Amino acid sequence: MPATDTLSSLASSVLIVVDVQYDFLPGGALAVANGDQIIPTINRLAALFPHTIATQDWHPSGHISFASTHAGHQPFDVIELPYGPQVLWPEHCVQESHGAALSGQLHLPRTELVIRKGYHRQIDSYSAFMEADRRTPTGLAGYLRERGFTDCYVCGLATDFCVAWTALDARQAGFGVCVVEDACKGIDMNGSVAKAWADMAAAGVRRIHSCEIC
Ligand SMILES: [Zn+2]
Repeated sequence: MPATDTLSSLASSVLIVVDVQYDFLPGGALAVANGDQIIPTINRLAALFPHTIATQDWHPSGHISFASTHAGHQPFDVIELPYGPQVLWPEHCVQESHGAALSGQLHLPRTELVIRKGYHRQIDSYSAFMEADRRTPTGLAGYLRERGFTDCYVCGLATDFCVAWTALDARQAGFGVCVVEDACKGIDMNGSVAKAWADMAAAGVRRIHSCEIC
């Protein structure tokens, strides 16, 4: 049974499903190992939450985060951009490509908003709230406030990048935040998953298991 204190809060809570797109799933251009294994758990959560938001990485071709945009660089190199360090990735989630589509295995019947990010050619965006220059908002915080939501439950791909940045920015914006650990998978570059959990804990993000909800 779900904890009653958790369930009672769900009316003003939103489930944020981060980047469950073909390019981040096995066989995709930037696959997260076993990323598909979290989909049944996400679907169970989505069946319970009255409100769901999905995010979708949505890059123009020649995007600044693509290694192919920078001569002499390989995927996973880190370069300095005007807004700070940027990991370079294989080309992924190009607008309107199959890889950018949300997985057909997702069942998110109560999705009220799909928020796209990373569509500015010169700015990456891991977070669903604030792009990587840390100055360009996506509008999600305002949307959530206007809708009266107070708490965000975050799941999806990848734990150490888009999930963590989304959770941290949700805290920064003043929302209560839980990350559902077993509904996320990480990429894990040089301990990035452990660092992400430490950063989230320090920011007051609650790390929970789906069994606490459903
Ligand atoms: Zn991206």
